[in-house]
Amino acid sequence: MMGSMAISIMWFRRDLRLADNPALMAAVDAGDDVVPLFVLDPRLWRPAGPSRRSYLLASLAALSERIGGLVVRSGDPAEVVPAVAAEVDAEEVFVAADFGPYGARRDQGVEEALQDGGGRRLVRRGSPYAVEPGEVRNQQDGGYQVFTPFSRAWREHGWPDPLPVSRDVNWLLDLPGDDLPEVERPDGIHLPPAGEAAARRRWHQFLETGLATYSSSRDYPGRNTTSRMSVHLKWGEIHPRTMLADLRERRGESRQRYETELAWREFYADVLARRPDSARDYYRPELASMSYAEPGAHFDAWREGRTGYPIVDAGMRQLRSEGWMHNRVRMIVASFLVKDLHIEWQHGARHFMRWLVDGDLASNQHGWQWTAGCGTDAAPYYRVFNPIEQGKKFDPDGAYIRRHVPELRELPTAQLHQPHDPIVDHATERREALARYEAVRNR
Ligand code: FAD
Repeated sequence: MMGSMAISIMWFRRDLRLADNPALMAAVDAGDDVVPLFVLDPRLWRPAGPSRRSYLLASLAALSERIGGLVVRSGDPAEVVPAVAAEVDAEEVFVAADFGPYGARRDQGVEEALQDGGGRRLVRRGSPYAVEPGEVRNQQDGGYQVFTPFSRAWREHGWPDPLPVSRDVNWLLDLPGDDLPEVERPDGIHLPPAGEAAARRRWHQFLETGLATYSSSRDYPGRNTTSRMSVHLKWGEIHPRTMLADLRERRGESRQRYETELAWREFYADVLARRPDSARDYYRPELASMSYAEPGAHFDAWREGRTGYPIVDAGMRQLRSEGWMHNRVRMIVASFLVKDLHIEWQHGARHFMRWLVDGDLASNQHGWQWTAGCGTDAAPYYRVFNPIEQGKKFDPDGAYIRRHVPELRELPTAQLHQPHDPIVDHATERREALARYEAVRNR
């Protein structure tokens, strides 16, 4: 249909950028013209909350503006992608490899459908990680279950330098497409600017003004001192390789620390790729048989930030208003759900995935499992976060609580961290959690 011109397809998923994008580079090398395709997959769209949806749409709009358009189709990728490939007679469809349980399965289905529908190929180039999951191996050629040796081996393994921006691409945009849906953003939701340019701006701003004190200040949610790069990494608006290359030019403890945080992201992706079942099931099964409560009124109070524990409520409200929560507070609220309310981690993880704009299956499920005491490197179950002491220690002047819990704003700092009309008593529930734990340990 298009003469002897070779046409390739770049299927964008969670790699919404033009720079440092190996799949796009390969698509440009292979095709005279490249179709920029995005498939709105109901399987991923349906469970996403309004913040995630809004953010994704904003990121797609930014990508589309850079390219000059985007071919959007809705439906099951195993049907849509081969159909588009057949329409333009493309032999190859290029993607960044997906190592998540659903993504890997979906890609296999697409690969088979492309093959069956005319011998076309799905070509995987690169991934959302500096080192692909499965590549860092221990001496027995298996995966690591503990973070520190993984991070050492990850650094030793190394990664390539970033690739430049793909320039002079002949985009083929003249194809029918579906409209992206409208999303109504509920009042009071504030999301960061989306897209590749916004990601770079945020990253450079952090390098100039935040990195130097990152190591000493990252644990204080009231100070806004972390990079807020998780959302940009989630949607691939920037590649970690680019960030690691910039970090290499810096010195000091904070740079090391930041690299280590990026290594956590890679570690969890590696663990999930080796144990896809751990997205839903207990990584360490011992705690699966503990007695838990069904989610009910307490779960609702937790979700809505009405537990009466100020730091917990501040975190849960930040999640709703910003689609993001500070790491220290993620741990505090997760511990509260599992150990104070005795509700299984999967319920909390699902709520996070619905609301977080950086919601990433590997980091989220394993962040939850770690806090619940059943994950890798598991914090021992009996180490229960005390929400009052955590508040005093990490939000000493109460700036975080005051920002997110307006009804407590006027209280003097000395009273701010005390529970206000709490739904449970922490000391009692801590004893209860330990008793339940003892019961499974002695079984
Ligand atoms: P920074 O402190 O600036 O860290 C830089 C980057 O390092 C982050 O952007 C992130 O990519 C990575 N990183 C930092 N800490 C971790 C960590 N503990 N695990 C994995 N990667 C890390 N992170 C997500 O990206 N998506 C999630 O869905 C997610 N869910 C979580 C759920 C729970 C219960 C917990 C305890 C943690 C979760 N995290 C998740 C990890 C962490 O909380 C966020 O990555 C971090 O708060 C993002 O903010 P930032 O970019 O300002 O972090």
